[in-house]
Amino acid sequence: MNNEAHAEMIDLRSDTVTRPTPAMRAAMLAAEVGDDVYADDPTVNRLQERTAEVVGMEASLFMPSGTQSNLAALMTHCARGDEYLVGQLAHTYKYEGGGAAVLGSIQPQPIENAEDGSISIAKLRAAIKPADDHFARTRLIALENTMHGHVLAQNYVEEVSALARERGLKMHLDGARVFNAAVASRVPVAALCAPFDSVSICMSKGLGTPVGSLLCGPRDFIDISHRWRKMLGGGMRQAGVLAAACLYALDHHVDRLAEDHANATRLADGLRAIDRLNVRGPFTNMVFVDVPSNDVASLATHLRDAGIIATVGINMRFVTHLDVDEAKVDRVVASIAAFFATR
Ligand SMILES: *Cc1c(COP(=O)(O)O)cnc(C)c1O
Repeated sequence: MNNEAHAEMIDLRSDTVTRPTPAMRAAMLAAEVGDDVYADDPTVNRLQERTAEVVGMEASLFMPSGTQSNLAALMTHCARGDEYLVGQLAHTYKYEGGGAAVLGSIQPQPIENAEDGSISIAKLRAAIKPADDHFARTRLIALENTMHGHVLAQNYVEEVSALARERGLKMHLDGARVFNAAVASRVPVAALCAPFDSVSICMSKGLGTPVGSLLCGPRDFIDISHRWRKMLGGGMRQAGVLAAACLYALDHHVDRLAEDHANATRLADGLRAIDRLNVRGPFTNMVFVDVPSNDVASLATHLRDAGIIATVGINMRFVTHLDVDEAKVDRVVASIAAFFATR
């Protein structure tokens, strides 16, 4: 699809669908590059320093994807036969192909997530295995923020962190959307990340780059992750072209996440006026909508015909982002309202 045809479509499946803006492409075109496997790419080096500073950690490592970044983190924290505690609905557990178990020989201990994305402290505590040869060695607690759009309460995160310290466990944050959490809660991202030993952030979600995640942590942790990244096939060469997009995003696409959140509110308010829908949210840039099962198939056709791309089902998730403005939100609401007016 060319850019003009695409500009007319409205894609609410995810914030991963954003396309690099002309200004971001210009920054990529102008990037100074070198071979990053030799640590020779000045733009990657700059991005890594900058990100570490923003996140408030000693060092960071540019990764091709959030999945690889999380996996390298898990493999750095945990050895073969170790275990990490993780939400049943967490990305690292549920949506990364089981990589921790398959490639890391790390046993996940999934624990039920509450509606707000948290995991009860009592359940976490109960899942920590005693030192006993019958059990895997519990090493790590992994949280996610935002979790399905929810911002984790920072006092909750601090409590989990206190439990981890008490029991000698490390803390990893899947912060794919931690910038959304920071903007929504008006707390600096470094403060949200402070209770963690490592954090993975995604540039290719709401921040709008074509590619890229960064794993952040202490220098010695990042040195070990660097080896895992190479083994996992993530050593990139003239990656400055991609890092330039990320630097651009850090400069220009962080504060504007507030617009995505405002648009999610606008969308949720609009959809709430439709009787047949049960709307949950907005949670940062996400809105969840229950659709009567009888309407699912015809709604899918209706939206497709209207140029609206969405994953249609009985539980729908709409995600706002850089390529969805107020006018597009209004078009979506009007189109869905028109559909239900005839039912
Ligand atoms: C997108 C995402 C990731 C990883 O993403 P990649 O698609 O591998 O870059 C990790 N965690 C969460 C919560 C995500 O939304």
